Amino acid sequence: MASVSLESVSKVFPGNVLAVNNIRLHVKDGEFLVLLGPSGCGKSTTLRMIAGLDEVTEGEIRIGDRIVNGVAPKDRDIAMVFQNYALYPHMSVYKNMAFGLELRYGGNGLHRTWKRLTSPTEAANVAAKRRGIREAVRQTAQALNIEHLLDRMPRQLSGGERQRVALGRAIVRQPAVFLFDEPLSNLDATLRLEMRRELGELHQRLSTTMVYVTHDQTEAMTLGERIVVMNCGEIQQIGSPTEVYDRPESRFVAGFVGSPPMNFVPGGLATSAERHSFVAPGLNLVLSEKRSPTLAALEEQQDVELGVRPEDIIVERCETYGGVNCGSVSLIEPLGDCKLLHIAVGSQQISNDFKTTEVQRNEAVRLVCKVGPRANVTIGDCVRLRFNAENIHLFDTTSGDNLTLDRG
Ligand code: ATP
Repeated sequence: MASVSLESVSKVFPGNVLAVNNIRLHVKDGEFLVLLGPSGCGKSTTLRMIAGLDEVTEGEIRIGDRIVNGVAPKDRDIAMVFQNYALYPHMSVYKNMAFGLELRYGGNGLHRTWKRLTSPTEAANVAAKRRGIREAVRQTAQALNIEHLLDRMPRQLSGGERQRVALGRAIVRQPAVFLFDEPLSNLDATLRLEMRRELGELHQRLSTTMVYVTHDQTEAMTLGERIVVMNCGEIQQIGSPTEVYDRPESRFVAGFVGSPPMNFVPGGLATSAERHSFVAPGLNLVLSEKRSPTLAALEEQQDVELGVRPEDIIVERCETYGGVNCGSVSLIEPLGDCKLLHIAVGSQQISNDFKTTEVQRNEAVRLVCKVGPRANVTIGDCVRLRFNAENIHLFDTTSGDNLTLDRG
């Protein structure tokens, strides 16, 4: 086991493509850390630099106490599992899993004969370790439930089985660090769920440092002890799943983490009797007093963007339209365990006369709200919205910074 540190690391590809820009990151010994971000944000490049598959342009990478810039991948004591499994097609499952250890302990027959002649004690040690390979492979295969597949070739396996073999090949080597590059994205939804659980259990059992790349935020939230959210080659936020979900430092993180995504509404800040409110057409949200010290520093009527998660909006049916925070249900998406309601908030006309013109409808503020699976609502219903003030965020319209976070 080992920690992994990246100190001011950048990667520029030929053609002046800045893939990773000056990132600092410390993965604790035994930690499960997830790199999360949209396609092209630099997560795979970061992982590949840790693995030694891409050279670092600037900065320093350490595995444990050792600076590994310039150290060959095979000498870094890491094992990497890829999205496409990368199994050797001409080798059986057993050979695939044993290959790394066989290389480590003795190489080819000629090399071993030479060792026996030149240093018999070392050769005897190596021979003992080679005898242990079969047992190590068998035990790992048993843990992953692929023992019965050891004699098959990769082409005779399903996608899930191949992924298990790829995992097994990494585990059997007992590396100091596991690196995963979207290892589950080729699997169907059910298998992904199963493998996700197995990966979580594997980490608990082995307690080995794991760095895991994904663009799937559910995977990141369920597997990661900490998540690193990346965008455009830079780290946006590092935190536990709860921190990045509840305390996003920027609009980018707030919008990327969470499904369905957070609602964003442009508007302004108003203050009356020392209470702060967010105002937009048809909306007036009184903000939590806990946020007052942070909000007091902002200018009255400053342009801001509201961020509110679908589960933080409470929807109540009402008979007639009545002022602010009212709207009408324009779409219902039943998801089984909940329903998503799309609410058009705004002018009375839009709410009362749902069949207004497209132009008028587009002008309304649209919010997605999460309600219980058996909520009794139909399209066109008049609703009143209440907001969980503790969980409301305001973002700077220029920098995207979260203005409601107490950063002290
Ligand atoms: P994805 O989820 O799609 O794999 P990613 O976040 O892993 O994306 P990277 O593969 O790290 O992104 O790529 C980061 C940026 O570097 C992208 O703009 C990509 O086009 C660029 N890039 C990656 N590899 C190379 C390369 N060999 N040569 C030039 N540019 C590259």
